[in-house]
Amino acid sequence: MKHLLILGGGTAGTMVANRVLHRLRVERDFWRVTVVDRDDRHLYQPGLLTVPFGAATPEQLVRSRRRYLEPGVELVLGEVEGVDTARGRVHLEDGRVLPYDYLVVASGTSPRPDQTPGMAGDQWRRRVHEFYTPDGAVALHRRLERWLGGRIVVHVTEMPIKCPVAPLEFTFLLDDALRRRGLRAGTELTYVTPLDGAFTRPVARDRLGGMLEARGVQVRTDFLVDRVDDRRLVSVDDREVPFDLLVTVPVNLGADFVARSGLGDELQDVPVDPGTLMSRAHPGVFAVGDATDVPTSKAGSVAHFEADVFADNLVSYDRGRPMTRLYDGHANCFVESGRGRALLLDFGYDAEPLPGRYPLPVIGPLSLLAETRANHWAKAATQRLYWNVLLHGRPVPIPSRAPRREPAATGAAV
Ligand SMILES: Cc1cc2nc3c(=O)[nH]c(=O)nc-3n(C[C@H](O)[C@H](O)[C@H](O)COP(=O)(O)OP(=O)(O)OC[C@H]3O[C@@H](n4cnc5c(N)ncnc54)[C@H](O)[C@@H]3O)c2cc1C
Repeated sequence: MKHLLILGGGTAGTMVANRVLHRLRVERDFWRVTVVDRDDRHLYQPGLLTVPFGAATPEQLVRSRRRYLEPGVELVLGEVEGVDTARGRVHLEDGRVLPYDYLVVASGTSPRPDQTPGMAGDQWRRRVHEFYTPDGAVALHRRLERWLGGRIVVHVTEMPIKCPVAPLEFTFLLDDALRRRGLRAGTELTYVTPLDGAFTRPVARDRLGGMLEARGVQVRTDFLVDRVDDRRLVSVDDREVPFDLLVTVPVNLGADFVARSGLGDELQDVPVDPGTLMSRAHPGVFAVGDATDVPTSKAGSVAHFEADVFADNLVSYDRGRPMTRLYDGHANCFVESGRGRALLLDFGYDAEPLPGRYPLPVIGPLSLLAETRANHWAKAATQRLYWNVLLHGRPVPIPSRAPRREPAATGAAV
């Protein structure tokens, strides 16, 4: 019996495990499918955006991983220590060894403030905050509740990060919250990014940049941070941005075991073929979700579209046939813009996010690149869809291929 081992039981690992199981049942081919994760707490990460504004608590965003894995998928709880690709084995920290025939790395990325000098110093969670972790989002909520005015800087340290629109959404929601509390006039709001604009893709960059400008948010671009120095961000070319409160997205790194096992690049992402998602260096080893280096967003929607093609390809690969269903970088991201509205971006490796209509059963079609209430409600409904439909790997009637539009002007990851 073949053994598929999946490292990480988050969004991508869960979807892939369930999807593969369904696919193998159809083939009447019965494999062992195992997921490894360090705990049984599946976090709905998009919900973290709402925690600093008091709209949710982390506990409301967590459910049992086991509950979302189809019967037949085994869940092993343990910390992955390393992968021995030569022998086809995974070593856990507690000494257990798990052999595999095929391996999927789905261990995601994590914010790493320790990678930037001064960031995780004595001001961490006092003046320097983040919202990409449950503890960070709660600490930021407490800080914002006590906010009376001054300089707030929202900052992206380095790309790629997971959900690259999340810091923009945070800025729009913060602007909205401060206005409602009568604190906006007394708050200088600055958005600092290493990119040359608010976003990477030209049309979306201009649209989102215009929205920051309209809200009176100053934008500092091409800012490659060197260090956090007391109450200032300092760039490698010695520019400074002072703050009273810094809300940063630290460098996002893949899991440390990826680096230890010689599977990763400098960001500890696994270099894969962007179509088949198979490791460039290790045949039979795949990566999905945030753990890959593919030039599209690190987003839950990407994990969903990848899982869609992965199961078919795995079966083909196992039977010695060519992998013909290629992932095309399809991603869609809702961008909360405050005042009960949101935008929708839809793009792929070769498809720009452009205005238009996005087909969605029941509540759609939705407007692309336009701020609408329907987009806001669709984003709000996504959490229920996530737990009840998407994680189970059930097919949903939305296009899995990226739209056919103009080729992207840049191959940069978003
Ligand atoms: C604030 C925020 C807002 C977001 N908003 C959106 C959004 O609106 N739309 C969207 O599509 N996406 C959004 N995302 C991104 C989305 O949550 C991620 O892209 C998605 O979770 C990636 O799934 P993944 O399975 O690759 O990684 P994860 O879901 O992070 O799962 C990785 C798993 O691997 C496990 N793991 C890692 N290392 C080890 C180890 N050594 N041993 C054992 N287990 C290990 C972890 O415990 C984890 O469970 C957002 C993310 C954040 C932080």
